[in-house]
Amino acid sequence: MSFTVHGLPVSQGIAIGYVHLVSHALLEVNHYHVAPRHIEDELARLDDAVAMVEGELIGLKAATTSAQPHSEVSAFIDLQRMMLVDPMLVPAARSHIEERRCNAEWALVQQMEEVVEQFRQIEDPYLRERQADVVQVVERLVKALLGHPGHLPPRRKDGVGTVVVAHDLSPADTIGFRNHSIAGFVTDVGGPTSHTAIVARNLGIPAVVGLYHIRELVEDAELVIVDGTRGVIIVDPDEAIVEEYRLRRSELELDRNKLKRLRDTPSATLNGEPIQLLLNIDGPQDVSQLKETNADGIGLYRTEFLFIGRDALPDEEEQFEAYRAVIKAAGGKPVIIRTFDIGSDKNLNSPLIHAEPNPALGLRAIRYSLAEPKVFLIQLRALLRASAYGPLKIMVPMLAHADEIDQTLVLIEKAKAALREEKLKFNEDLPVGGMVEIPAAALALGMLTPRLSFLSIGTNDLIQYTLAIDRANELVVHLYDPLHPAVLRLIAGTIAYATKAELPVSVCGEMAGNPAYTLLLLGMGLRSFSMHPAHILEIKQQVLRADLVEITAKVQRILKLDEPVKIREAVEKLAS
Ligand code: PEP
Ligand code: MG
Repeated sequence: MSFTVHGLPVSQGIAIGYVHLVSHALLEVNHYHVAPRHIEDELARLDDAVAMVEGELIGLKAATTSAQPHSEVSAFIDLQRMMLVDPMLVPAARSHIEERRCNAEWALVQQMEEVVEQFRQIEDPYLRERQADVVQVVERLVKALLGHPGHLPPRRKDGVGTVVVAHDLSPADTIGFRNHSIAGFVTDVGGPTSHTAIVARNLGIPAVVGLYHIRELVEDAELVIVDGTRGVIIVDPDEAIVEEYRLRRSELELDRNKLKRLRDTPSATLNGEPIQLLLNIDGPQDVSQLKETNADGIGLYRTEFLFIGRDALPDEEEQFEAYRAVIKAAGGKPVIIRTFDIGSDKNLNSPLIHAEPNPALGLRAIRYSLAEPKVFLIQLRALLRASAYGPLKIMVPMLAHADEIDQTLVLIEKAKAALREEKLKFNEDLPVGGMVEIPAAALALGMLTPRLSFLSIGTNDLIQYTLAIDRANELVVHLYDPLHPAVLRLIAGTIAYATKAELPVSVCGEMAGNPAYTLLLLGMGLRSFSMHPAHILEIKQQVLRADLVEITAKVQRILKLDEPVKIREAVEKLAS
């Protein structure tokens, strides 16, 4: 019987394929007592499984690192490797085997339950979430013990894709699927910023998460359709539905191919107004996208990915090389590098972390940089030195106080003085801009504008802080609303203020890459958008059809609306 299940759409596209149920190995392990004379053998089984999983993770890390050094994914893999050697896990399970004569699988699962319970009681939400990594590591170990290392589904001979259905997937698992003709991912848990979502988007595989009990609703080898754009799973569809979705899938493909033709079309509205389209990148590995998309430059390089997921901080030389590589690869196009935004959901296993009860409101981004001026100065020196190689601008995240800019500028002057003394080259007039992502900054722009050369609106955090919604928490994801009238007024107000002050302003949050909002932002007066490379051509398509005179008047009317339903309808009409 065919039925439909709704979840959170986190990676666009349509997948049609047969279910590969990633069984919850942990729920299925046998419990038995080992005879005293076999205890040594049981310990050896456990050690072999640990070695096998260690090897698997090292292999995955190597595959990931060559593609994306210091990426989030490789940080997650490091974290799982650390868990493998944590005394709380395997050594404790060994004791269960030795003292209670449990079989290895049972010993591991018991110990996992104990550790997970301890994680559950941690207040820090980031650390609390790490219980998922503990479960995934133990799942890998149990699979290795059962002779099924990893979650890799068998390749299908008929060429039809496989849809992986799991409770949760670790980024390591997801990367491992790369060569296995995986059509889509579907999971019980997760939100738009969950591990699965991040990796699925990177791999361009449709994914729907947050489906709660999907594993209990589908069977292995059952045909499903994953609509990653609308967040819908159709289980056991009839032939007519499959045909309809095949058609939709080829239309999407056709659209994507048509979009590619826009690569070299200048980005300008119907009125001939040029609109700057910039890229958000996580490191030098992404800069090749500049050529692929023919974007106008880099609008946001998130440097924190250089810092997270490693034991030692990157020194000045390593940072300088990374920044210079991006600037050189940009070949004269402008590059905006953001000083590191560590803290809150970007902690991973950074050595810089201090446990905080409410990290999104704590020592994050510029607050952290100013609290650790030695670390900050190293980055500023590296940035200044890189500025000798092309049109670099630097950008400061999470500004809320004039002092934060003043102190940053003092540190920049200090770094410049030292570089002059050392006779090292840098741009004396390096422009410094700031992010508007805290409502206080958006409401008191007069405090920022005299001190800065440009602004960039971080809508991801601006929405989080305006609506008091944790952007990484799937339980409140339904309240995360870019069209909330308060959010729209803060964005429109910032664009209007900056335009009047003749200060360049851009949007670099996810809203900039969402075609549903392009005309809205243009109508607010925005002329510069920065986004993930995957969205550039889609946004250009919107720009090309925009009549600024018409949409500006319409958007002014939308900004006067208070009723959310009316706002949504008006924005949909504008975009249609
Ligand atoms: C934002 O907050 O919108 C932004 C671009 O910064 P990040 O997503 O890195 O916090
Ligand atoms: Mg931000």
